[in-house]
Order: sequence, then structure tokens, then C-alpha cells
Amino acid sequence: MAADRPVKRKRKGSGSTGQGGEVLLRQRTDPRSERRFEPKASLELALTLLGMSVAALLAGAGVYGQWFRGEEAGAHPAAPYLLVGALLLGAAAGLFGQWSMKPVRVGDAGVALENGPGEIERIGWSEVTGLLLSESALTVQGGGTVIAVPLRAHLAAASRVLSEARKRIPGRVADIKEDALPAPDDAAGEVRPLEPPQVAGLHCKATDKLIAFEADARLCGRCGELYHKDGVPPRCITCEAPLR
Ligand SMILES: [Zn+2]
Repeated sequence: MAADRPVKRKRKGSGSTGQGGEVLLRQRTDPRSERRFEPKASLELALTLLGMSVAALLAGAGVYGQWFRGEEAGAHPAAPYLLVGALLLGAAAGLFGQWSMKPVRVGDAGVALENGPGEIERIGWSEVTGLLLSESALTVQGGGTVIAVPLRAHLAAASRVLSEARKRIPGRVADIKEDALPAPDDAAGEVRPLEPPQVAGLHCKATDKLIAFEADARLCGRCGELYHKDGVPPRCITCEAPLR
């Protein structure tokens, strides 16, 4: 009875990953996606902009009063105070104001920050060395880069980053408490397809073999680690996902 059914091997040990035996090896051109989160406009931003505007007004008035009142009137006695006030207010707004109001992306390619049109700073999951949660931000470290996701403007994105990191690279999130951030909201963020990654010229994580042709590349579907098709290990070296 059922003698020639394929034998399902039960995995024992390493119970922490629990991915149910699904093979996660991906081709370079397999579809990938990410969510894009717009920052939430906040009181801090409004106050920052207001502070900057008042500072600019004070600076203008101060400069006028100090140097542009004409020969006979001379410098206005209040002008230096206006200038100092403008400087202090401008510095305070710059220091304490909320400036990290950039869109954040989270998905198969890791965590990314949109620094400008077409200028994206990205940390792949396989490059992440650690996540840090503070009162004000969730910080993703890795690959010589740090991306801070501010909680006030980007709570939905931060929740998504934390929950994906727990699934993809659980070993690097162990320090953060389970309920530290709310569960991610599937309605938050706009899902967008990702371009296939540029991999030619990179090296296989397992064998260090040069990936000369993009068709030779294989990716871990969970952490995005890169392998040559001839060097795919049974389990991802970075996240231990089953690859074969
Ligand atoms: Zn992996």
C-alpha cells in the first residue's frame, strides 16, 4: 500500500527556520516584487518647515537691518540679534527636525531608501548584518550602508521590514522583541514588480565561481543570496533556506 510514493524526508533539528520543505531556489528572471511606502506627513515635518521658514525670514530681516539700510540710517541695533536668532533657529530645525522623509521600499530585494529620482540606496537581505530598534527608528545595517526607517513617518514600512526580516533572516533579528512593532498591514504600501537583479560579474556565495552569464545565476528566494548554477548548496549559506 502506497509503496512507491516518494518518501518525504522529515527534517529534524534546526526547528527555528520551519519553512516546510519548500525549495526556494529562484532563477534570475523569476518575478520579484516589493512594497513602496510614502512617508506619513507629520507634525514634526510641519514644525521643521515652519522653523526653517521663520529662520529664513529672520535672516533676511537681519541682513537687511545690518547692511542694507543705507549710509545715513546705519545698522539697526536689533539686526545682530535677528541674525543670531535666525542662526539658532535654523540650526535647531536642522538638528532636531525630521528630514528623513524619503519613500521606503521593502520586498524581495531587501530594504531600500529613495534618495532621489532614480537614486535608490538598497541593502539586500543577504547583506544585512543586524537590525536595531530604538524609540524613533528601525535601523537596518549591512553592506557598508545603514538605512534608518523613522517610526513616526514610516511605521507601516518599519513593521513590514521587521516582519520580513523575521521570516527571511531570523538569526539577525533575534534581539528585537516579538511584539515590538505592530503586525504589518497588507493594505499599506503599493506593491510593485522588481527588475531582475544585475548579477553578471558577481561571484557565487558557495564556490566563489564568477557568474559570467546572467543565465548561470541562481538566487535564494528567501534572502536573495547569489549562487552559480553549478554551485548551489543544499541549504542557503546565509539563511539556511532549502535550495535543492
Ligand atoms: Zn538565503
